[in-house]
Order: sequence, then structure tokens, then C-alpha cells
Amino acid sequence: MISVRDAQAHILERITAQAQPELLPLSAALGRVLAQDVRAEMDVPPTDNSAVDGYAVASADIPSTGTRRLEVVAEVAAGSVFAGALGSGQTIRIMTGAPMPAGADTVYPQEVVERRDSAAIVGSLARGANTRRRGEDVQAGAVVLQAGGVLRPQEIGVAASLGLAQLLVRRKPRVAILSTGDEVAEPGTARKPGQIYDSNRFSLRGLVEDAGATVVDDGIVPDRFDELHARLQRAAEHADVVLTSGGVSVGDYDLVKAVLQQAGGIDFWQVAMQPGRPLAVGGIGRAHFFGLPGNPVASMLTFHLFVRPALWKLAGRRELFGQPFRATALEPMGKKSGRREFKRGILAYANDRWEVRTTGPQGSGILTSMTAANCFIILEEERGDVGVGESVWVEPFQPL
Ligand code: AMP
Ligand code: MG
Repeated sequence: MISVRDAQAHILERITAQAQPELLPLSAALGRVLAQDVRAEMDVPPTDNSAVDGYAVASADIPSTGTRRLEVVAEVAAGSVFAGALGSGQTIRIMTGAPMPAGADTVYPQEVVERRDSAAIVGSLARGANTRRRGEDVQAGAVVLQAGGVLRPQEIGVAASLGLAQLLVRRKPRVAILSTGDEVAEPGTARKPGQIYDSNRFSLRGLVEDAGATVVDDGIVPDRFDELHARLQRAAEHADVVLTSGGVSVGDYDLVKAVLQQAGGIDFWQVAMQPGRPLAVGGIGRAHFFGLPGNPVASMLTFHLFVRPALWKLAGRRELFGQPFRATALEPMGKKSGRREFKRGILAYANDRWEVRTTGPQGSGILTSMTAANCFIILEEERGDVGVGESVWVEPFQPL
């Protein structure tokens, strides 16, 4: 038996190289992992500018009490630059985003200015009000985006604000997915007696895509040595990671084990967890290999615990795990000590705290326990039964 934590550590140790970098236009970079730091080559904003539509003045002309009459000598729109300099007793009509004219350091919003022909009557105002300073967002030379971060809309916006049109990101890892088992039938086709429809290939596909990797669908493989051997070898030639489900539990263990041992260096683990005990991990050719258990909940859970961090490390991500937090149990939960148990939970914020209950029956074949849930409830190895009101670890399916 191996603990979840040790299994995770061994898996991550094996991943020593990262996916190759590629240059992508900003429009294609969403969700990708940045391959190098982005350092600003300019200030943003590039000049001091007005934060409002109004009148730019030199602070020396601002009356400390009462009002003052200033001559409006020019108008400067966003996108243009006032060529001259502001003289004493003068003001310039200015639009939001227009560079501050030389000599001006403060802007009156137009709503507080009384306009009389070519004059503006102004009251008192704090020096520097309603201006945006050069470099207040980004200063030239600063690292604004760090390698290993995932590009969200705002990171892409910041890159664009620096004038960048492309970013160096990691290629998406390619993940070949195969289902194993004579009993597994393709959805949309007729099912023979004794068969069940393949759900794992489809839930795993979604998990792979959600993890930012590309899916290669390699179909269903029957429980036959030669065919399994050939299909795994072929999958390894066109993928960075080969993912199978089924065939690692005791019944057909030997067949898959024999094939995989011939195919490369694979370890077979019994992980101290529930659901999802059996797991095969290693390499086929140049590809990483994960043999996930066949039970639908177990295959999703083992993907979450073992495959996703591996894909994220391959893709160059800095953060490899979600962040669990504590919630109050609303119902009792049975727990065997000595193994880590994962219940499917429904988590909600109520009564000034996070509260969680299970989705009901927790069999590892009950895939609808995943559709009802929004989190895993994580009961650590040393823990026994959980009583109502006790606090438990939860990890939402979607990281915060
Ligand atoms: P195995 O590990 O191959 O013995 O499979 C364990 C359980 O998971 C069995 O009940 C299988 O029928 C089921 N199973 C295996 N593969 C799939 C699949 N692709 N989709 C749904 N259930 C599966
Ligand atoms: Mg099987």
C-alpha cells in the first residue's frame, strides 16, 4: 500500500521535462501557461493623463477659497497631444485619457466648472486631482506576468496594454485516452447483452480538456493481450501521456500488467484510498502512462489526484494542486481509518459558514454522485467516523 501523498510525490518526480514553448497570438493564448516572465518595456500609462472630461490647470492657479476666472486657450482630445505649454491664468479643455499638457497637473471635472464664453470659473480643488500618473499601472522594467502562471483574460489584457501581440506559452500536452474491457460498448451503438456503455472515456476527456490539455481519442480496447499491446504502443507514439481506464483491478490485473511490463517501466500501486485503490503508473516509450481504475467515480477521482497535477507540471504550471478548506459536516459519515476517503459532497455557504453534506450512496460505480456534487469531501487517513457538526476538508471541483 502507498499513501495518496507518496503516490503524488512519486508521479511528480517522474516528470522532469516540460512541454515545448510556442509563440501564440494573444487571441489564442487564453488558458495557456506562460513559458517565460513578461517584463514591461514601457510605462503604462505612458504619460500623465486626465481621468475625466474637464479642464486642466496648473495647481498654482487653483484658488484656495472662492473662485477664479481662467482663460480657456485650447482643447485637447484623447489621442492627441497639446503642443504648447499652459501659461498663468490659463486652462485647457481636456478629455478623458488625453495627455496632460505641459505645465498642467490638476483637472477640474467639467461638472464643477462654470463656463462663460472663453472663460472657465473654477473653485478650489486638491492638487493633482483627476489625473492618472505615468506608470501608475505598470512601470517599465517590472515583471508583470510570471512564467508558470495561467493566462486569464486579465493577464492577456495586461500583455496587450504593453503593446505585445504574442506570448510565449507551453504547448498543450497531448493525452491519448483508451477504455479497456470486453464489456465496454460505444455510446450510440447497440449494446450486446452483458455490456455497459463507456462513460470513462467521456468524463476523462472532459477532465483532460479542463486541465488545459489536448485529447487524442483512441477508443475502446478489448481485453486481448496483442491488441492492447499494439494499441498502447501506437498511442504512446502520438501522445505525451497515455491514459487508460479499467483492467487494473484484480480480475484482469494480470493481462494488463503483463502487457504494460512488456511495454515499458510501469509500477502497480495499491493506493490507500477509497474509492480508487488500484493504479498503474509509469512510461510507455517516451510517453507517461496512467492506468486508472475502471469504476467511473474512481477513474475521475484518480485523474483529479494523480493525472491533473502531472499534466499541469508537464504544461509548466507553478501551482499543481487545488486548495482544500474546512467545512462543517451536516450529516454523519462512516470512515475507515488507515486510508484516505473521498466522498462526493454538496458544499454551500449558509449560517455564516461553509456547510457540506454527501450526495447519498457513495459506491464507486455511482457516477451520478459526481453530477450531484460540487466538491470532494476529504477524510484523512487517521480520521475515524465523522459526526454531525465536525469539521472536514473539502475541495471544490473547480479551483478558486
Ligand atoms: P475493471 O477495473 O476493468 O475491472 O473495471 C471495474 C469496473 O468499472 C467494472 O464494473 C467495469 O465494468 C467498469 N468499467 C470499466 N471501464 C469502464 C468504462 N470505460 N466506462 C464505464 N465503466 C467502466
Ligand atoms: Mg476490465
